[in-house]
Amino acid sequence: MKTIRSYVGGAWVEAAGKAQTLVNPATEEPVAEVAAGPNDWARAVAHARTRGGEALRALTFAERGQLVKALSKVVHAHRDELIALAIANGGNTRGDAKFDIDGAAGTLAAYGETGIALGKVKFLVDGDATQLTRSVRFVGQHIALPRHGVAVHINAFNFPAWGMMEKAAVALLAGMPVITKPATSTALVAHRMMELVVESKILPDGALSFIAGGVGDLLAHLEGQDVLAFTGSSDTGRMLRSQQNVVGSSVRVNIEADSLNAAVLGRDLARDSEGYSLFVADVLRDMTQKTGQKCTAIRRVLVPQSMLDGVREDLAERLGAIKVGDPSREDVGMGPVATRKQLDDVRAGLARLREEADSIFGGDGSVEAVGVPKGKGFFLSPVLLQVRDGKTARHVHEHEVFGPVSSIIPYSGDAADAVAIVARGGGGLVSSIYSDDRAFLGEMAFGLAPYHGRLFLGSSKLAGHAVGPGTVLPQLVHGGPGRAGGGEELGSLRGLAFYLQRTAIAGDKPIIEALFRPHTSDDDAG
Ligand code: NAP
Repeated sequence: MKTIRSYVGGAWVEAAGKAQTLVNPATEEPVAEVAAGPNDWARAVAHARTRGGEALRALTFAERGQLVKALSKVVHAHRDELIALAIANGGNTRGDAKFDIDGAAGTLAAYGETGIALGKVKFLVDGDATQLTRSVRFVGQHIALPRHGVAVHINAFNFPAWGMMEKAAVALLAGMPVITKPATSTALVAHRMMELVVESKILPDGALSFIAGGVGDLLAHLEGQDVLAFTGSSDTGRMLRSQQNVVGSSVRVNIEADSLNAAVLGRDLARDSEGYSLFVADVLRDMTQKTGQKCTAIRRVLVPQSMLDGVREDLAERLGAIKVGDPSREDVGMGPVATRKQLDDVRAGLARLREEADSIFGGDGSVEAVGVPKGKGFFLSPVLLQVRDGKTARHVHEHEVFGPVSSIIPYSGDAADAVAIVARGGGGLVSSIYSDDRAFLGEMAFGLAPYHGRLFLGSSKLAGHAVGPGTVLPQLVHGGPGRAGGGEELGSLRGLAFYLQRTAIAGDKPIIEALFRPHTSDDDAG
């Protein structure tokens, strides 16, 4: 059986003992063992910080972009192998696995191109030089350079490929070395990707390190030039963010956490309109893709009172056509959740939601899974609920059930009412509004924007031209305020800011202009 080890200090290492046995969540058969992580964390950090950091900073943005682009090709070239591992260790259907792995390759490719477009420069110029006093000589210019530390990335279990590579793409392009840690339960895909990166010899020594199992006292070694980017539950995020040395040394922290994303149906959309079909398709996809284990999945479905019967009927009918079972079978539309703990958490969360809601589809989640030994696997039916009283229900706005579960919340059809209900989620990654009424879309967008990192406006003419709200794109910001962690990743160049130090330089205009003039991609300066 495969042993998942750490890659630190330029070598594969393992300490005595094993951390965990990974299983196939459909059959519960073991698929890999996870070795205990490295013994010497200080050395692992120092190697990345010095060897990796110096090597990356010696390169221009364009050169680093080439490296990142080359990594994308490596992932893509091994797509089928990685898909098979995601099916075996993540409970992914083939479609789920493609979503993760193609997302990883696509984000690497996009950031590769972003770097290449920045050209032969080693720092970025932020805005124009500004005259600071009455004297024309005294000007200020902001510039941004890579921090001289290490970027520690801790990822969630649901996107082992994309989670690892979307963060690595941005940090490496910015010029910071990375120590990446996948969630242990689904680490097989991330580990294979790390093996491929090492075999490819694309990256300089120390640029990317990989941690299997726990992080030991890794975080205790972080200092003021380092950054920590975390994706996972709010509880873990809060604990990491408040570590003594993280607070004491002002280690920069980015948290991507829970989110109770909403989809709001406008009352103008007739049942036979394209916009309505888009709404139904997006809710269904988000409930079942990755078995609902998507941070961007629609958890709250706001439906005008007058449209409740039709929506319930349409969603229940479509959910009934989805087969749950062995995700390697082509006829199966939804696999298991990733772990037994995840299954227990979803069941407990569902019970909590049902205190204030009734099941429209899926009952308590019990299901007879197809193609697997009876009683085996971490399976659940998709469950669609409807809250009894949208005004008083609490759990639906406070508790993220990380599985194939969504709740309909009736509302009046007025934008102000919908905004007030969605805002009760306390800040989210993404919400979507489905309508062809521009006034409604505008009122919703301006009302919801302060509570979200991203909004999706699903109008009829967009049908067939867009990916749904659940897809995170490298061009757009990913993250959200409040409950969602307060973080911000991706968004093209915006994502680089986390890894760069912005510095204001004030001085004599000719000197400032000579040293820090904006570069064109053909410049050699930097
Ligand atoms: P989790 O239990 O918080 O774990 C996340 C990561 O933190 C894992 O790598 C885990 O490692 C690590 N971790 C746990 N305890 C730690 C500690 N004491 N020190 C250092 N690292 C520690 O979350 P999860 O169950 O994997 O993910 C599900 C959650 O992630 C959901 O709430 C979901 O909403 C959220 N999520 C958010 C986004 C987003 O972009 N906003 C994306 C995906 C998921 P081990 O696996 O080794 O324990």
